[in-house]
Amino acid sequence: MHIVITNDDGIRAPGIHALAKAAKQLGKVTVIAPDRNWSVCGHSKTIGRPLRLDPYEFPEADAAWVSDGSPSDCAAFAGIGFLDEPVDLFLSGINPTPNLGEDATYSGTVMAAVEASIWGLSAAAFSIDCARMDPNTIDFSAVERILPQIAALIREHPLPRQTILNVNCPALPYEQMRGIRWTHCSKRIYRDVLVRNDDPYGRPIWWFGGEPPISVMDEGSDGKALADGYVSVTPVRQDLTAYDYLENSRKS
Ligand code: MN
Repeated sequence: MHIVITNDDGIRAPGIHALAKAAKQLGKVTVIAPDRNWSVCGHSKTIGRPLRLDPYEFPEADAAWVSDGSPSDCAAFAGIGFLDEPVDLFLSGINPTPNLGEDATYSGTVMAAVEASIWGLSAAAFSIDCARMDPNTIDFSAVERILPQIAALIREHPLPRQTILNVNCPALPYEQMRGIRWTHCSKRIYRDVLVRNDDPYGRPIWWFGGEPPISVMDEGSDGKALADGYVSVTPVRQDLTAYDYLENSRKS
């Protein structure tokens, strides 16, 4: 099995090294990852400038490449033909903060998997529920136990066109996790506030601050499963059509 891995936190982030180590159990691992942190870049793709792709020393992988492009650029490299060997599975992560509900469209982690799916690859995004922790202190090792189970789910339920699995893991030792749950996207409640300050020259600067978003905890949702100690697995697709609104509007 040939597994290709990217992330949105950059090739030096601990999460991608943990994911490569977990994937090594399953086969040959190639890393193609950004040279910097792109978190919250969504489905950003580079078309206005050329891109670099340089070999990179990455102990957990069989081969690794670092790019000055975005996470989705890295996925496109894997999908469009940079690699000689066919790709059996594309993984993105491990993101140190969860990607729940509508967060998916902000997430470079999830959207890199979506980009890979556009090119026909089976893809999954991995995140762990460790908001506001130093990524260097996070224990990602449970993913070594979870990833083979996710790969088995994909074999058992092949992913339809442009559909990926968005996997969110609780911040628990594997033995304390309650299992894997199929979930739907929760509704997120965003709590951003505008924070105004002054730069050293007295000109105004702005931050989107405030508390992180929370999920509406309906039964079967990703947020509820995660809060209850389950690994949440949500099939996510790129089709953004509002079908209910469309149907109602066509009727009237
Ligand atoms: Mn990130």
